[in-house]
Amino acid sequence: MEPVNSISRMGFRKWYERELIDSHVSLVTCVLSAFVAAACFETFTLPAPPLTALLQAGGMIGGAALTWASWLRYRRIMLRAWRFGEQAVCKQCTLYGRFNILASGAITPPATEDEPHPASQVWMNVSCKRCGHTWRMPEPADRPAR
Ligand SMILES: [Zn+2]
Repeated sequence: MEPVNSISRMGFRKWYERELIDSHVSLVTCVLSAFVAAACFETFTLPAPPLTALLQAGGMIGGAALTWASWLRYRRIMLRAWRFGEQAVCKQCTLYGRFNILASGAITPPATEDEPHPASQVWMNVSCKRCGHTWRMPEPADRPAR
C-alpha cells in the first residue's frame, strides 16, 4: 500500500525527496512531449509522403497523449506529497519528518454528486521519534458545518 510501504522502508524525508524528483521528471516529460506534439503539428502537411504524414500524425497524437498523462501524473504525485508533507511536523516538538508508523489503512470517502467514484485515501497513525507524540496523517478533512 503506497506510500506507507515506501515511507516505512526509506523514511519520510527520503520518500518526500523522491516524490518531488519523480513529479518534476513528469513535469519535464510533459513540457518536452508538448514540444514534440507542437513541432509535429507545425510541420504536418497533407501532400507529404504517406509515411511522413503518418509519423507526424503519430507525433501529434502521441505527444498530446503523453503531455496529458505526464501532467496528470505530476499533479497526482505533487498532491500526495503535499498532503503528507504538510502534516509531517510533530505538533508537540516541531520535529519534521521523523516518525514511526504505528498503523495504516485506507478509507474511501463517500460518493458525492461532483465525485461519484472517489479514490481511496491512505492514512497512517505515526509517533514522533523524539517525543513520542502520536497523530494521524493526513488528518481527515474537516467536515463542513451543518
Ligand atoms: Zn515530537
